[in-house]
Amino acid sequence: MRDYPQIVVPPPGPRALDVVRRDEAWTQNCYIKEYPLVVARGQGPMVEDVDGNRFLDFMAGIAVCSTGYSHPRVVAAIKDAADRFLHICGSDFYYESMAALCERLARSAPGESKKRVFLTNSGTEATEGAIKLARYATRRTAIIAFRGAFHGRSTGAVTLTSSKARQHAGFGPLLPDVHHVPFAYRYRCQWCADKGECTRGCIDVIENDLFARHLDPHDVAAIFVEPIQGEGGYVIPPAGWLRDLRALCDRYGILLVADEVQCGVGRTGRMWACEHEGVEPDILLTAKGLGSGMPIGAIVAKESVSTWETGSHGSTYGGNPVCCAAALATLDLVEGELMANAAAMGERLMAGLRRLQERHACIGDVRGVGLMIGVEFVKDRATREPAPELLRDLVLAAFRRGLLLLGAGKSTLRLAPPLVVDQYDVDTALTMLDGLLGELD
Ligand code: PLP
Repeated sequence: MRDYPQIVVPPPGPRALDVVRRDEAWTQNCYIKEYPLVVARGQGPMVEDVDGNRFLDFMAGIAVCSTGYSHPRVVAAIKDAADRFLHICGSDFYYESMAALCERLARSAPGESKKRVFLTNSGTEATEGAIKLARYATRRTAIIAFRGAFHGRSTGAVTLTSSKARQHAGFGPLLPDVHHVPFAYRYRCQWCADKGECTRGCIDVIENDLFARHLDPHDVAAIFVEPIQGEGGYVIPPAGWLRDLRALCDRYGILLVADEVQCGVGRTGRMWACEHEGVEPDILLTAKGLGSGMPIGAIVAKESVSTWETGSHGSTYGGNPVCCAAALATLDLVEGELMANAAAMGERLMAGLRRLQERHACIGDVRGVGLMIGVEFVKDRATREPAPELLRDLVLAAFRRGLLLLGAGKSTLRLAPPLVVDQYDVDTALTMLDGLLGELD
């Protein structure tokens, strides 16, 4: 038996409430704050709050804590780097960890072409830089992104985002010449078949509708795609869809930008999600799991695309030496053992969820690769009407019992635990979900 999950005071306890009240008095209203979890420390897949409650975490700080909380090897690398120097500015000067991380990412990205890397502080910044690079390299202006996509929240990146109208409201005018097309939402594709099953036909909408009626494909700089949609609901396109998209880009000289900010760094059981399809993007974006929680991201672009001139892009903090050290230690762990663990534990979790689907009619769809798994709730399996209230109630009830969950899309539970989870963690989460769904459904 482990010492988690363990609730000693119904959360939020008195100490947590103190923090919540202070936070609510002084922080901006735009923060979401899913539930009143007030973290004191974490270890592996366990998070302890300020009142001593211990939670099993199946959301990893939104798919970030890839190596679990405070992995000793990541912490040691951070301490060692911090002891030496905290900053010098990688845009202007050199240090070993920056060269090493860029080389490592360039070599690990899918495909044979030589790559070059730009380091950022976040996923949003990676998107923002990629928009600039794609326009610069192609001297074209139009960008295509997908409905349901999430690429970040700066003005350029949020224009590509199409996840919730609230993320655009009041901020316009946004970036011009950005066009949204349907994503291959297998369970709910309105463009492919009467039954709402995606059969890859929705990709034809880009050529037969957008290119035929609205937009010359030779004006398109790039198509930005999440190989697995994250915030949109952990949506996995059918096999062959990403390859079709690659072929479409090749027909018109359009750059394919794979946003692997959420699905990359071993989460799907491979280092990059594109590898499952054998697709080489022109530009690959990473962040989140790369630094195990330290703020670092990257634009990994083919050398042939990396045409921007000295001084045309830069960052004061991007590729900070402490973050580079965390990322290098993270990559060691992910390549060494965690990627394989994600594949094995993902299979166990998927099999368990499929059993739950047989027992609970509210589970409409279970989909996943590795430890990136979506469980979509419906009011009725025949109509597939989404059940957002059930999702909200489940997430809150799980928190009170000691299981940390998070939704995505309209009514999908996203399961994105740290890649260190073992059989105990997976089986505990499944048992808890089973019990909670039995009570709520
Ligand atoms: N791209 C994807 C696919 C994401 O999931 C996210 C964040 O959720 C981002 C970009 C933005 O990353 P960040 O929040 O680090 O700026």
